[in-house]
Amino acid sequence: MRKKNSPLPILENVEIIDAAAEGVAIARIDGKVLFIKNAVPGDIAHVQLTKKRSAFLEGTAREIISFSEKREQPFCKHFGVCGGCKWQNMKYEHQLFYKQKQVADNLERIGKIDVSCMLPIIPSKKTQYYRNKLEYTFSDRRWLTAEDMQHEDEFRNMNALGFHIPGFFDKVLDIEKCFLQPEPSNAIRLDVKKYCIESGLTFFNLKQQQGLLRNLIIRNTSTNELMVIFSFHKESDAIYSLLDHISKTFPEITSMMYVINGKKNDVISDLKIQCYKGNPSIYEEMEGMKFKVSPVSFFQTNTEQAYELYKTARTFAGLSGDELVYDLYTGIGTIANFIASNAKKVIGIEYIESAVDDAKENAKTNQIENTFFFAGDLAEVLNDDFIAQHGNPDVIITDPPRAGMHKNVVTQILKIAPEKIVYISCNPATQARDIELMNSDFSVTKIQPVDMFPHTHHVENIILLRKHPVNN
Ligand code: SAH
Repeated sequence: MRKKNSPLPILENVEIIDAAAEGVAIARIDGKVLFIKNAVPGDIAHVQLTKKRSAFLEGTAREIISFSEKREQPFCKHFGVCGGCKWQNMKYEHQLFYKQKQVADNLERIGKIDVSCMLPIIPSKKTQYYRNKLEYTFSDRRWLTAEDMQHEDEFRNMNALGFHIPGFFDKVLDIEKCFLQPEPSNAIRLDVKKYCIESGLTFFNLKQQQGLLRNLIIRNTSTNELMVIFSFHKESDAIYSLLDHISKTFPEITSMMYVINGKKNDVISDLKIQCYKGNPSIYEEMEGMKFKVSPVSFFQTNTEQAYELYKTARTFAGLSGDELVYDLYTGIGTIANFIASNAKKVIGIEYIESAVDDAKENAKTNQIENTFFFAGDLAEVLNDDFIAQHGNPDVIITDPPRAGMHKNVVTQILKIAPEKIVYISCNPATQARDIELMNSDFSVTKIQPVDMFPHTHHVENIILLRKHPVNN
């Protein structure tokens, strides 16, 4: 037996055979799964074991002995330290292959679903600068890389504006250039940091709950609107000089917003967000329809791929114009309003009230008169009374968060027994779990993965379920 505190061994010439969720790779050692960081399927590597459990092992590739042909040189200098794009070292075609496989594996293993009807994943048109929203964090506890540690100078400059380091809640990696959001995202972040340091403004310290500057959120639209939201710890005159400076330097900003967050956590959705200059919201456009995006409202972060996702959902729903459709987890009503002209009536349900207000406003802006929105927790709202009052839907579209649907919601859907269910998910594991509960009454007839997040292991998936014919 290994003595306590004695180091775990290095395993030599490990053959990497697969990719798993969370961007780690997989090997098999004596029948056990070994999860490996810093490796790509096809590599042969010396692997430092970091964890040994009865069911699995964990490790980090220390030396690659033979490089996989699936590898690619990462384009970002922050790769490997930043937690953002863990698959940048794998060619895009192979990322797509493993996303497709991740969906199929989950559906087969957890959902007991026949995946022969699965369509090839829709690749993302853009593999860089595809996000319409980024949130940066200010910190006076900059993460020092091994290289930084060699230079004494680096210790004098501990302010950072960038992304949290995975696993270290109070440490932030200072970002020089990020490839996720189009310009002027980088230019704004760099100018904000320069101005704040030169003006002696203090960067937040999460542990001590001190410092003025907390977060910087940038949102853009395909119509070239640009929203910047600053989060500060407290009121100060310095705030307004900063906001003026940034507004003047970047006249393309159409909404300059700020919020005072004196709380322990970074969440701002429960706080009053002030509009300092410009408009209090921005508008996204799809097929000529306008969607209002408020500072904290949810909008899919890859707009072009969101359009692919919504078009697929509409095709899967196969509406003729006579149907009553329920759009569960509707957010700001994007899907409900997007498909409204193809249905008789659409009912959207969502628990964030401000999102429901936006959904109603979006319907009005686009002169849509057959969508109706209700606020509440689906596990409670979708009850027998609600169905009796609003009608039994022919089609249910559901798009829950990563945790999937509450069991009560699944039970209620079984009771409603619509002809079709279109299930959109950002987590194939919970999607498979929920569908397994519906296998008795529904068959999976179409499966369409969509890549919304290149260089990450994340995958979106749409499934069409059809009710089994009733045998008399
Ligand atoms: N379909 C939308 C939003 C999907 S995100 C779109 O495409 O834009 C999932 C949404 O579910 C979020 O808006 C979240 O607020 C909402 N939500 C999460 N849990 C919920 C619950 N228990 N009841 C109702 N809505 C919920």
